[in-house]
Amino acid sequence: MTQVIQIRLKISNAFLILGEKLVLVDTGSSGETSTILNAIRKAGLDINDLSLILHTHAHFDHCGCTADLQEKSGALVAIHKFDSHAFLEGRSVPVKPINLFGKFLMYFMKDGYQPTKIDILIENEFDLHSYGVAGKVIMTPGHTPGSISVLLDNGEIIAGDLLGGGRLVGLFQPERPRYHHWYLDMNDVEKSIARVMATSPKRLYVGHGGPLAGNEPIKHFSW
Ligand SMILES: [Zn+2]
Ligand SMILES: [Zn+2]
Repeated sequence: MTQVIQIRLKISNAFLILGEKLVLVDTGSSGETSTILNAIRKAGLDINDLSLILHTHAHFDHCGCTADLQEKSGALVAIHKFDSHAFLEGRSVPVKPINLFGKFLMYFMKDGYQPTKIDILIENEFDLHSYGVAGKVIMTPGHTPGSISVLLDNGEIIAGDLLGGGRLVGLFQPERPRYHHWYLDMNDVEKSIARVMATSPKRLYVGHGGPLAGNEPIKHFSW
């Protein structure tokens, strides 16, 4: 059986996938290691159970504690090839705001995080069964070129920043599907959303807010 636990961090989410082994998807912003460790303990597990740290993309709020958690666990680190250069330099992949609010938020985009080595460079679909989780990684570019999603055999999806949940990074109406404020390529985003929706996800987890309610139409943030 596979279970996803959403860890609500200051501005983003990280996810524990519990299967035969433990996989962590994203690591929040810098300084949030203890929150993630607490969530692992609360699930009745230990940091040494961690087999893989997988990244939906290379942004400061999704890679912030990777170096720290890798050092503590010895887990393998995976990210898509197209976001790997930024990741190795502890940078965020550049994005474009799609509205005024997105432009405003750019001022708060802290770029840096502690870089670490990459063990697995994802290039195409990537099977997670050998890491103890019934699922696979699929390519869902658009927010960044190397953005990926995790498609679990139980029909749940972790889609990173392909979509957002609610207003103000999930503070309000977190279950309402919304476009993110920042995308690099809107054409890719639409194709990736179509790809995710074609699987009729049972539950859709996202990087901010969520999990999203089933088949609601996706709204643009209005300002
Ligand atoms: Zn992002
Ligand atoms: Zn984010």
